[in-house]
Amino acid sequence: MRFNTSLIHGGVKRDDKMGATHVPIYQVSAFEHTSAEELEKIFGNKAAGFTYTRLGNPTVQAFEARITALEGGKASIACASGMAALTNAFLNILRAGDEIVTSASLYGGSIDLFRDFEAFGIKTVYVENNNWDTFEAAINEHTRLIFAETIGNPGLDVTDIRKLSELAHAHGLPLIIDNTAATAYLVRPIELGADIVVNSSSKYINGSSNAISGILTDGGKFRWDFEKYPGLKEYAKFGTLAYTAKLRSGLFRNTGACLSPQNAFLNQIGLETLGLRMQRECDNAAALSSWIRTSYPEITVNYPGLTESPWHVIAKEQFHGGYGAIFTLRTGSKENAFRLLNALKLPYQLSNIGDTRTLVIHPASTISLHSTQKQREDAGVFDDLIRVSVGIEDIEDLKEDFEQAVKQMKEENYGREY
Ligand SMILES: *Cc1c(COP(=O)(O)O)cnc(C)c1O
Repeated sequence: MRFNTSLIHGGVKRDDKMGATHVPIYQVSAFEHTSAEELEKIFGNKAAGFTYTRLGNPTVQAFEARITALEGGKASIACASGMAALTNAFLNILRAGDEIVTSASLYGGSIDLFRDFEAFGIKTVYVENNNWDTFEAAINEHTRLIFAETIGNPGLDVTDIRKLSELAHAHGLPLIIDNTAATAYLVRPIELGADIVVNSSSKYINGSSNAISGILTDGGKFRWDFEKYPGLKEYAKFGTLAYTAKLRSGLFRNTGACLSPQNAFLNQIGLETLGLRMQRECDNAAALSSWIRTSYPEITVNYPGLTESPWHVIAKEQFHGGYGAIFTLRTGSKENAFRLLNALKLPYQLSNIGDTRTLVIHPASTISLHSTQKQREDAGVFDDLIRVSVGIEDIEDLKEDFEQAVKQMKEENYGREY
């Protein structure tokens, strides 16, 4: 099946008794069984079945199956948010004394999470993305996983997933990729060697910002060394699926950040138009960013689709169908950034990406507020920077709005140094 067909049919079981085209919203906490014996079997993993929604739910399972098909993985676990999915993805294989090596160009929330891990004796080493020597140098005998985002948010650097996975595997380490900003529309990280893929499905997968959720997908290919990852030993009989088996019966059920059936349902509706939306949003981002670059040489535009982007070559090689729907603008000062943001009429000013509507934000004073100055700069966050997540509006309306906003920004600057 090709991409858009697979969004409708991939991982979908057409077995509803009533012929319903969607798996209904099983809005229940628990599932009855007819005998004590049956319940015993299900609890003992000796029979399939649902017992309690924190552990599993048919609507959520349907969403998981679709994402597994989308990412080309073996199993997925849906969580209450992208952060819950990341937390589960990491802590499933980490213990006190372990280390993470990660690209420094990360979503602020992930940097905050790694800081929380310090209290549990888990250290994070940040390195410049795609700098193979520094990645190599940061790995030691305590390292247990490598992490990066496909498109760093908001640095917009593009990770060479194939190279990074080769480097990780050469050291016996799994590569975990946050594919939120790229989505499977642009690239399927598992095909390039990633072992676990995490998506904040609150973003492009849901598509219209009506539900928070996250999901992680196990590629099912990594050969776990049970001495190095002793927590997985108990699940050795699951082989390359030991990671998912442990997570499902352990941390995921015990931390309880399960996805609600209602949100799983909304995500499946969103998922079906992922291809259409991404195509349009990528086209709009390419057109709007290159128009701003040509019209206003004083504004620095960063977009992987622009040939001058240092990430263009990797993006071109690795992505199909576009270069993502996010670009950033450097306006010269924080004051200019705020003036431009406040003068825009169509975009919503809020902390989100991947909506049908265009969204803008000043990352330094919001999503990266808790990061240190150095962490901010390493993540590509500057005081004069605006992030634009482009929606599906008509491109001429977006251009006209940016045109009037830049004009207003410049007028307010009249007589001042710019
Ligand atoms: C939003 C986001 C997250 C966190 O997802 P939530 O659903 O908000 O918890 C993680 N990674 C990236 C790249 C994101 O954009």
